[in-house]
Amino acid sequence: MECFTHTGSPAIGICKSCGKAVCRSCAKDAGVFITCSDKCEKEAADVHEMNQRGKKIYGIGTPKKMASGVIMWFLFSALFGGFGIFQTIKTGQPDWFLLLFGAACLFIAILSYRRSKESGLQC
Ligand SMILES: [Zn+2]
Ligand SMILES: [Zn+2]
Repeated sequence: MECFTHTGSPAIGICKSCGKAVCRSCAKDAGVFITCSDKCEKEAADVHEMNQRGKKIYGIGTPKKMASGVIMWFLFSALFGGFGIFQTIKTGQPDWFLLLFGAACLFIAILSYRRSKESGLQC
């Protein structure tokens, strides 16, 4: 394979951006890849950066973990809220501690559910 611009010069690689064969004298080594011009180097770097960013987002974005947290808070609120209502009916007086604790858990559950939904949309 010969260089795209220098006939006779053996190509050492292929431009990451446009796919042209490049020789030692016109190749631009950007570290991870080779490009043929400044323009291509910038484009390839942008693509490379975007890929890296994409990998990061997929690494952090673990909606399964978030969902289990939401389920946990919903269970807490059902447990304490339900017990609070049960106590209120049984004693005839509202058990504020259990009712408020159940309400707080429900609030946290809704908040984390909304947050997990938002982070899911960003992907
Ligand atoms: Zn190129
Ligand atoms: Zn060349």
